Amino acid sequence: MANQRDYYEVLGVSKTASEDEIKKAYRSLAKKYHPDVSKEPNATEKFKEVQQAYDCLSDPAKRENYDRYGTEDPMGGFSSGGAGFNGNFGGFEDIFSAFFGGGSQRTRDPNGPSKGSDLRTSITLTFEEAAFGVKKPITLNRAEKCTKCNGTGADSLKDISTCTRCHGSGKIMTEQATMFGMRMRTESVCPDCRGTGRKITKPCSDCNGQGRIKKQSTINVTIPSGIDDEQTIRLSNQGEAGKNGGPNGDLYINVTVKPHEIFERDGNDIYCELPLTFSEVALGTTIEVATLSGKVNLKIPAGTQSGTKFKLSGRGINNQTTGRTGNQYVIARVLTPTKITQEQKELFTKLSKTDEKSSNSFFDKVKKFFGRKEK
Ligand SMILES: [Zn+2]
Ligand SMILES: [Zn+2]
Repeated sequence: MANQRDYYEVLGVSKTASEDEIKKAYRSLAKKYHPDVSKEPNATEKFKEVQQAYDCLSDPAKRENYDRYGTEDPMGGFSSGGAGFNGNFGGFEDIFSAFFGGGSQRTRDPNGPSKGSDLRTSITLTFEEAAFGVKKPITLNRAEKCTKCNGTGADSLKDISTCTRCHGSGKIMTEQATMFGMRMRTESVCPDCRGTGRKITKPCSDCNGQGRIKKQSTINVTIPSGIDDEQTIRLSNQGEAGKNGGPNGDLYINVTVKPHEIFERDGNDIYCELPLTFSEVALGTTIEVATLSGKVNLKIPAGTQSGTKFKLSGRGINNQTTGRTGNQYVIARVLTPTKITQEQKELFTKLSKTDEKSSNSFFDKVKKFFGRKEK
């Protein structure tokens, strides 16, 4: 302890630093110098130094002694390294779980059970398939549970034995003595079985002990009616197989819906335009209109204007997900003829002569603004 550096200097905090400031300084330095991750020269030494400084300054009683006597233990001096530090480094996360008063907090381990990755794929549907729902095969390349060993990774069941060090729990508790006889318990991953709790003496030959195999599979996906463009379907458990007995990941399917020749969609409602001739809207008529569920007769009353919207109740999309059914809207479009026969020309001329006599208040109102040559 001859050339012991000042603890405040080690942590880079002032003598009046609060507990929080000390904690913060320790966390960032411990990260910086942890021997498992640090590339700094003398990281091990520095880490030890930081740990020691923190052990002292984080304890109000020790800190008081240190401030007063220049040592945290005025009766005996240092007998060992800092508390909770005995030269064996735990996993990088272990010091943090210990630090947060954890100790009992289970550390995450790359060799323990873990959920498989989620997968993403896409599918393109016709307008009708999206409207009515459909069953579609989808081919995926994914890691699946090895069927030969049932995911155990072992050649046979007798090739699996319980880890003798951790007795199958995958973790070990270490107890360390601290200053003043306090003891700190730290949980860490069992190094013998790397957290799996078991040992495999002969690995499965199909998956080389991985318990999972990459393969191509085709699954049948049921698409609910009413799915819309750019929506995503989530199929739980259809992603990659989990590791070491962990659950499977999920599968996300992005849906693209192709446009329809005549129908347009807005949510569960369907829109279409209905071309009508002059005489049809002038005289009124009944037209057979296409809907998703077959043809229906639509009555067009005399005097229908271009742009008039007719509603066909319940003729939209029956959405399985929301339980709602939309409507179909038919929009009248009056066609202006581009080519007319001689006979039509004569009829139109005759017709135009009658315009003066017909009463149309809007037409009357605007007429005076536009001069018209007498025919
Ligand atoms: Zn296998
Ligand atoms: Zn073990």
